[in-house]
Amino acid sequence: MAPLKYRSTNTLAPPVTFGEALLAGQAPDRGLYMPEEIPKMSLEVLEPLSGCSYQEAAFQVLRTFLHPEVPDEVLSELTKDAYDFPVPLEKVHGRRYLMRLDQGPTASFKDFAARMMARLMSFFLQKDSRKLTVLTATSGDTGSAIAHAFHGVPNINVVILYPAEEVTDSQRRQMTTLGGNVRTAAVNGKFDDCQWFVKRAFSDEALSNLGLTSANSINIGRLLPQSVYYFYAWAQLRSSLDEPIVFSIPSGNFGNMMGCMIARRMGLPMRRTVVAANENDEFPQFLATGSYRKIVPSLNCISSAMNVGHPSNLARLVDLYGGRMDEQGLLSILPDMEVLKNDIFAVSVDDAATKGAVREVWDSFRVLIEPHGAVGWAGMEEYQKHASDEQELQVVLETAHPAKFKEHIDDILGFSPEPPPSLAGLEDLEESYDVLDSDYRLFRAYLQR
Ligand SMILES: *Cc1c(COP(=O)(O)O)cnc(C)c1O
Repeated sequence: MAPLKYRSTNTLAPPVTFGEALLAGQAPDRGLYMPEEIPKMSLEVLEPLSGCSYQEAAFQVLRTFLHPEVPDEVLSELTKDAYDFPVPLEKVHGRRYLMRLDQGPTASFKDFAARMMARLMSFFLQKDSRKLTVLTATSGDTGSAIAHAFHGVPNINVVILYPAEEVTDSQRRQMTTLGGNVRTAAVNGKFDDCQWFVKRAFSDEALSNLGLTSANSINIGRLLPQSVYYFYAWAQLRSSLDEPIVFSIPSGNFGNMMGCMIARRMGLPMRRTVVAANENDEFPQFLATGSYRKIVPSLNCISSAMNVGHPSNLARLVDLYGGRMDEQGLLSILPDMEVLKNDIFAVSVDDAATKGAVREVWDSFRVLIEPHGAVGWAGMEEYQKHASDEQELQVVLETAHPAKFKEHIDDILGFSPEPPPSLAGLEDLEESYDVLDSDYRLFRAYLQR
């Protein structure tokens, strides 16, 4: 079997193997890599997943994309090593569940992708003894997940940019206390500025000797592992083999949501998918009106990891539905809006409703969620008003541990959640980071140093 190829959403770059796409990050035409074809998993193939561990499910799903480029025995080892933590599916009421993706080492769902990507990169780098600099913009959780996943990985340096004023203490400490091959820089600007720097750096000739690559969700290696938990949740919870499932995904840069839409295309039985944004409602507006307007600058909401005014992965979604969008957000071909609206229920949740959901879920069910999960919860509630089937299997994704946002929880509920072991003791470690003004030329000089 020939390995699956990956093509650019901007269509001007040649198709490449997974390994090439992974190490490159962005395509040379500034597009995003997508599988040339989405592999299918039939119900017969999905059936045995129900008895599987998360590690085994990850192996089966990822194998459809990576075989034979990554040998089975290697992939099996990598998935075992990457996913050594639980993935709880917590029943809240009726057929409504919460999937807690917050049990990894940095307590956000980004560990799922970062840990697999670091291991895959290390595998491909070993093969052709290259060196890379992983450059990443973060609104908080990506940076810590990437820093942890790549810390100590040979032949890779990591540079992380974060908006100085927009990350919490615990998020910052998770990035700035590692040292070694991990450097962090606080940018006096917004997440969008950080993201823009990273994008520019990739196409900057003056930096081509650094071997820059991206660990942001524009990297296909981040995206594919984010399809796995949708299969896993369904396999664990389904009552019959063809029972469709509804996910509600708190969304910012749309990497998580793309993982779900790929799973749907692969054959996972789904009803609509709830894409829940915060007040940055460019996507719900797009679905409603058919015209796309970025939000510049993005709005600050308490679900801070989702303060994104133009999701990088939107180009991939547009591509999956037959349209074309360039890296600036310019639509040259409209995707199939009817099918898109059929598959996706998009909703914007404001901060008041977000806080209301944290309170409501705690008061009614004694289940603790944080602001991102609460956006997902409120989105599912909104969808529920339109859903015909009361008995539907529904899963809301909780994307971070409540202790990561303890200031908000304390403000809403009047108590502070206990930190998981991975977050405890951070205050005692020494921090080290650089500070940059929001000016690309300064950033370039910084990288060159
Ligand atoms: C990154 C992040 C999100 C948004 O995920 P996207 O893939 O960017 O849409 C949601 N919640 C938390 C806690 C995050 O860290």
